[in-house]
Amino acid sequence: MSVVTVCPYCGTGCQIVIEGSKGQRVSGYSLSPVNHGKLCVKGYSGLTYNFSDDRLRYPLIRSNGEFRRVSWEEALDYASKRLLEIIRKYGADAVAFQSSAKCTNEENYLMQKMARLVGTNNIDHCARSCHSPTVAGLVSTLGAGAATGSIESLGDSKTFFIIGSNTTEQHPIIGAKIIEERDRGKNLIVADPRRTKLADIASIYIQFRPGTDVALLNSMMFVIVNEGLQDSKFIEERTKGFPALSREVEKYDPVLMEAVTGAPSDLVIKAARIIAEERPAAILYAMGITQHIHGTENVQSISNLALLTGNIGKRGSGIFPLRGQNNVQGSSDMGALSEWYPGYVRVEENDVERIEKLWGRKLPRKRGLALSEMFEAAADGKLKAIYLMGENPLVTEASVADVERGLDNLELFIVQDIFMTLTAGKAHVVFPASTSLEKEGTFTNTERRIQKVNKVFDPPGEAKPDWWILKEMGMRICGMRNYSSPEEIFNEIRTVVKNYSGATYQNIYPIGKQWPINENAPEGTEILHATAFPIGRAEFKVIQYRSPAESVDEYFDLIMTTGRNYYHWHSGTMSRRTDILERESPEPYIEINIKDAQRLGIRNGQRVTVKSRHGSMSIKASLTDSIPEGVVFAPFHFEEARVNKLVGNELDPVAKIPEFKVVPVRLIP
Ligand code: SF4
Repeated sequence: MSVVTVCPYCGTGCQIVIEGSKGQRVSGYSLSPVNHGKLCVKGYSGLTYNFSDDRLRYPLIRSNGEFRRVSWEEALDYASKRLLEIIRKYGADAVAFQSSAKCTNEENYLMQKMARLVGTNNIDHCARSCHSPTVAGLVSTLGAGAATGSIESLGDSKTFFIIGSNTTEQHPIIGAKIIEERDRGKNLIVADPRRTKLADIASIYIQFRPGTDVALLNSMMFVIVNEGLQDSKFIEERTKGFPALSREVEKYDPVLMEAVTGAPSDLVIKAARIIAEERPAAILYAMGITQHIHGTENVQSISNLALLTGNIGKRGSGIFPLRGQNNVQGSSDMGALSEWYPGYVRVEENDVERIEKLWGRKLPRKRGLALSEMFEAAADGKLKAIYLMGENPLVTEASVADVERGLDNLELFIVQDIFMTLTAGKAHVVFPASTSLEKEGTFTNTERRIQKVNKVFDPPGEAKPDWWILKEMGMRICGMRNYSSPEEIFNEIRTVVKNYSGATYQNIYPIGKQWPINENAPEGTEILHATAFPIGRAEFKVIQYRSPAESVDEYFDLIMTTGRNYYHWHSGTMSRRTDILERESPEPYIEINIKDAQRLGIRNGQRVTVKSRHGSMSIKASLTDSIPEGVVFAPFHFEEARVNKLVGNELDPVAKIPEFKVVPVRLIP
């Protein structure tokens, strides 16, 4: 028997075919418009974690410092009773819910609905730490916080501008598509502090200083406006705010900006001309753009560049925020964010009344705590309980010492996961959950494609699908309906989230459809904003360059930037329990420019101490010439060297994302 489902790793959302009771044969689904039968190493070889011996199999309650196995009835009754006691004693805002971009749309919908029915908007998930600036930035400029085109439509692009994305490592199938198109003679411009694989084959590679994205993008727009290369017809007919933008970018002469960005002005000028003249041009970005305290402004600058050059609303053009986790797009669509109800209805908006009618309950209207604020609130005693599903913040969040302090101070910590992660080890109650290959539901990928997730294996022991656990908890704490299947939940989602209204489990199978899917677009929508923006005219934003939260000085003289590598995923919960992936990348490391290493007397493979203003750790040095002098890079997958210990807790004021990409450090051999 073979089952078609969706890869559980990155936001590309490749469709996979799995055969055999233990998934002995895995292949790419040839009819998929996303991956056309191709998969990367994680899709082909990254699924054996499903059968790992250390899967959680039974519900657990902590007593006298030890976990003891209990029945589902006891675990659910205990957790719900304690949660209700805390709500009665301290109020609904004393509890918080942390959802998961690894879980399905149906599960994220239930998690956020539970939070809101309990009476709080303290609901968030890891999009906060990756693409919350995309939602905030693109909603403010275009009216929709999502990719504007499809992966397939990139075949019509003449030019690709990739900034802040190591695409071949993070979204390998999209990276492969870019390589194919480059081989066909398309223009490829890469801007990144690290010399990525795509930078090696680019027509223009701009290496620039971490955190100077706005200065770089404004200097490209300086060239376009100064040389009259903007798309005046598009600007006049479909945008507002151009005069103010052009006045602002006048201050960003690329020659003068070299001192700020480190980007050679001749390359900036050439790149700007190509983006404006060799159209359609697609702009792709990832966390190199968003994980800054100016992440929202970085995204708005990208939007400015696309609008200025008319590169939006047509095949081959557009803005492509490459989503990290497999269901970041869907979890955000479902409203698992503290400032948004499902379908991007702001918590303060009148449209919340429509959802109140559908759910039959008065709903909270004040923005809740963001993920990045919850742990400090717990440490301060304002937050008394957290219910967390499928996340490992002790590895993935900034300032993990504060996360630890917060978790240690909770009266109740409930964790629902597939493994006993570092974070789950601190819980009072642990619910054993199912992987995405053990349940049904839907994921929405980076191009807004809603795809059916199908069950391939049975969960181990007494583990249950997350949607079942959530509805059991919901029935106990907030009178949630006794949903009988993920499809029943999806059918409710269709009544709440307008962009999903025309999707059904039947019509999205097998290859999915891109939202909006509704009566006007029953087959979905490949290209957004083709004739109109949801906000009428798109809006240019005036963005001034501001320096990062922290700067290098004589002591902290290197900038550390964090990220992922090709073989692992996020906190490594799944990929590090997969033999082939772990074999390829078994231990933590920090990449250092060869010249910096020589200056500091560091050999390849030597252990070094990395110190920031927030913490220190010991890690193996890996020498490379792919990053510029003055910059070091460390992946964050490894719990034995948690690089996020070194990251500070300054936040983007709008999107509340920490600055993972600019961390001044000192290396001590
Ligand atoms: Fe899975 Fe992403 Fe690789 Fe596709 S590109 S196989 S979705 S990890």
